[in-house]
Amino acid sequence: MTYPDTFKGIAVTDHANWKNVSQLDYLPKHFDDHDIDIRVLACGVCGSDIHCASGHWGEIPKPLVVGHEIIGIVVKTGPRCDSGLKVEDRVGVGAQALSCLDCDRCTHDNEPYCPNRVSTYAKSYRDGYVSQGGYADYVRVHEHFAVLIPESIPSHLAAPLMCGGLTVFSPLLRNGCGPGKKVGILGIGGIGHMGVLLAKAMGAEVYAISRTSSKKADAVKLGTDHFIATKEEPDWHEKYFDTLDLLVICAGSLTDVDFDTLPKIMTVGGRVVSIAIPEQHEILKLKPFGLVGVSIANSLLGSMKELKELLELVAKNNIKIWVETIPIGEKGVNEAFTRMEKGDVRYRFTLVDYDKAF
Ligand SMILES: [Zn+2]
Ligand SMILES: [Zn+2]
Repeated sequence: MTYPDTFKGIAVTDHANWKNVSQLDYLPKHFDDHDIDIRVLACGVCGSDIHCASGHWGEIPKPLVVGHEIIGIVVKTGPRCDSGLKVEDRVGVGAQALSCLDCDRCTHDNEPYCPNRVSTYAKSYRDGYVSQGGYADYVRVHEHFAVLIPESIPSHLAAPLMCGGLTVFSPLLRNGCGPGKKVGILGIGGIGHMGVLLAKAMGAEVYAISRTSSKKADAVKLGTDHFIATKEEPDWHEKYFDTLDLLVICAGSLTDVDFDTLPKIMTVGGRVVSIAIPEQHEILKLKPFGLVGVSIANSLLGSMKELKELLELVAKNNIKIWVETIPIGEKGVNEAFTRMEKGDVRYRFTLVDYDKAF
């Protein structure tokens, strides 16, 4: 199979005008011995794409091609590849493209926490090349950060698992979600809806928590056992006092989360884990009194081992996440960005039709 030395992507060229994207050619990173090239079939649209494209996380070198929920076909493997991935395999790549693979964190399945982590886009490799993501015809990554996709999961449904799904699965897995546990998912959006599906598949009793009941019907369809509308039930923290073993906060920002009240619904020793990476200037103020008896933490992505486990769980239980597809292209990305910014998505976009666009 042949393909060009330059890749084509749908790029952000100006943070101030971030939704007005352009199709551009660019050079991929240097092809290292353990790299693989992937022809992209589909890519999910993640909240991080919006944060980076719009400059919420600070100035990023441009042109910037975002996208880190990538599904595609391996078209080339490096001379020292030994992960078992082969040309023509269908693989997925999430939000991480590289880490040192040698430090204590990397060797204990904590690659996302490696100090030398390179994100799939917008981060510099050692040689200064700034990584580019999956709103493109091809991506090039280290083989360790690509995973085989089970045949039974269609590409458009597999894509959002690579970042969003893994991001909520990792704290569920690490904090004992399973039979006999009461697990809350706060924020029923792109990631939260996957949280409800996954926590349920893992065997927990699930509590979906939202401000209003506007998403109650959806949450019930997703399988939640309980629904708490905090704005509509003023006594919710008394009604559900001492209930949850684990709460995963899937909100995009923590400034609206009431950390004085929320811990009341946790059991003693209960864990509150946030997955939010909000705008770079957001600061959290906590009153220690409100946190008596509970632990709080912030989680980042998940390991490749966890990603493989997630795909097995999804395949085994035939879990169908809720996805709306949009054809990739300048128009499609503009539409996805515009609607994501308004929250007009139930619950996740996947960009598709790559063969028609490039
Ligand atoms: Zn490392
Ligand atoms: Zn993401």
